[in-house]
Amino acid sequence: MGPEPERRIETVMTRRRFLGALALGGTALGGVALGGAALGGCSDPPDFVRKAGRRIERTLDPLDPTTAEGRGPEPAAFKPPAPSLAAPTHPDTLPLECDVCVVGGGAAGFAAAVVAARMGAHTILVEESFMLGGNTTRGLVNLDRVTYGGDVSLVAGLFREVLLDLEERGEAVYPSAATQFSVPYDADGLRRTLLEKALKAGVDIRLGAEMFQAAAEERRIAALWALEQGRLLEIRAQLFVDCTGDGHLGHLAGNGYWLGDRTHGQIQGTTLIFYAAPVDFDRLVAYAEEEGSQNTVHQVIGLRSFMKQAIKDGLIGGTPQRGLLINRTTKPGVVSISGSESYIDHLSPGAAARIATELQEQDFQIHAALKERVPGFEASGIVRLAERPYLREGRRLIGYKQLTAEEILQAVKPADSVARGWYPIDLHVAYTGGPVHLGQLRSGDWYGIPYACLVARDVDNLLMAGRCISVTHEALGSTRISQVSFALGQAAGVAAALALREEMRPADLEAELVRSEVQKQGGLV
Ligand SMILES: Cc1cc2nc3c(=O)[nH]c(=O)nc-3n(C[C@H](O)[C@H](O)[C@H](O)COP(=O)(O)OP(=O)(O)OC[C@H]3O[C@@H](n4cnc5c(N)ncnc54)[C@H](O)[C@@H]3O)c2cc1C
Repeated sequence: MGPEPERRIETVMTRRRFLGALALGGTALGGVALGGAALGGCSDPPDFVRKAGRRIERTLDPLDPTTAEGRGPEPAAFKPPAPSLAAPTHPDTLPLECDVCVVGGGAAGFAAAVVAARMGAHTILVEESFMLGGNTTRGLVNLDRVTYGGDVSLVAGLFREVLLDLEERGEAVYPSAATQFSVPYDADGLRRTLLEKALKAGVDIRLGAEMFQAAAEERRIAALWALEQGRLLEIRAQLFVDCTGDGHLGHLAGNGYWLGDRTHGQIQGTTLIFYAAPVDFDRLVAYAEEEGSQNTVHQVIGLRSFMKQAIKDGLIGGTPQRGLLINRTTKPGVVSISGSESYIDHLSPGAAARIATELQEQDFQIHAALKERVPGFEASGIVRLAERPYLREGRRLIGYKQLTAEEILQAVKPADSVARGWYPIDLHVAYTGGPVHLGQLRSGDWYGIPYACLVARDVDNLLMAGRCISVTHEALGSTRISQVSFALGQAAGVAAALALREEMRPADLEAELVRSEVQKQGGLV
């Protein structure tokens, strides 16, 4: 055995952290089975609140997902909290401490980390890939429906700041009435901007670090572990934010979750976007118009007859979408194409390779058919496949409220709304035979997303943002998009920083405090 490597602790001792350290009571985590018993119902305030001697003024009511009154029921999809897990140990372990640890550096995680850091919290961001942005960069996703309805813009907060930076560099077309739904942008430019902003905010960014374990006791996450270049990072924080999209952290820490629709237990399908070039967009638009597609300045939505015929002729196999979404990027002649679809559950063991194979095959087939049959594509090739498929739906962590499709379609604006959504309910599911729209809001209208949907029900020091918040399967068809994920991340970052300042658990924080801070930062609530 070699010598024991030096264990370095990077920490800043604040009064908060001091109180937090008292709360953890120097817990020895090594080898201890922790977590487990999380569960349901309302508990006593956490130690750090008790020790600070603060009176809890307001506590969110817990949500019981197994009763009709508990905004459900979703019995087929409900998963109970996970069993307890043992903490890993290894001599090559780097212990880190911070105020806020955000896991997942997609749109939501980027925003949560930047905002928490800007508000003074020592923040660590753990991201498994080598870039920030998640679907918006790794997935080459379109920034679709950024403005909704005429010239009503719902671009705000940190997302707006990011778009303005991109526009200044010529890497995005800022949305306006003229651009309607689509915002052409350069995914690599976005990647650079997000990293620059997070570094400037002082976030301790851990790229290439995959979180794989969390230990919770007495309804609190005590630590989580990530693998960074073969080394264990053991991260302790006052507060954690799950922005993994799939609710990995909440799941490992023992928070309950829902998965899939109530009847079939199915989650939404997965798509792999690709870029093709050179494409003569004007000729493509002319053809698409004749075909009856809905086009906007930078986007072709449809080509349904083309797809129907290509599938019938055996040019495209598998379970692709019925139509295509083709968006201009900011690079001349380069378009992004979304049309493949796989209904293999990406959370099932060994699914990734099967999904990748199926989607890649469809993408190559779709492109070959376009090249053969659609004007504008004759000289084109595939110039880029997205690094990762777009995982539309994973675990939806149970919070203190569950947002429903009815509330979305009725454009409900709750008093504790901390972010706005407006996208139609766009469900990509096999049980309807493919993508369906369950409805959309009136032009220019919006719905509010309650703060209680961001607060984990079973783990007191956990917030969530992005795709894994507490919503129904159908509601996720609307809340899952990029702009909303940025806004939810911003709200979660604000809530984390305020909970630390107020020395409260997030469940006891007045939503009004979060709302007014988000507004102060230019966000819409
Ligand atoms: C085909 C397609 C169409 C879409 N259409 C639109 C659209 O038109 N308009 C729109 O606005 N949005 C659209 N979206 C959706 C949107 O891009 C995403 O849903 C949104 O960005 C989700 O953000 P997120 O931060 O919650 O999750 P993600 O982007 O999934 O980010 C999660 C991050 O967590 C990281 N992570 C996960 N697990 C771990 C772990 N254990 N350890 C460390 N890191 C981890 C991942 O690497 C990833 O970076 C579309 C996406 C696709 C691909």
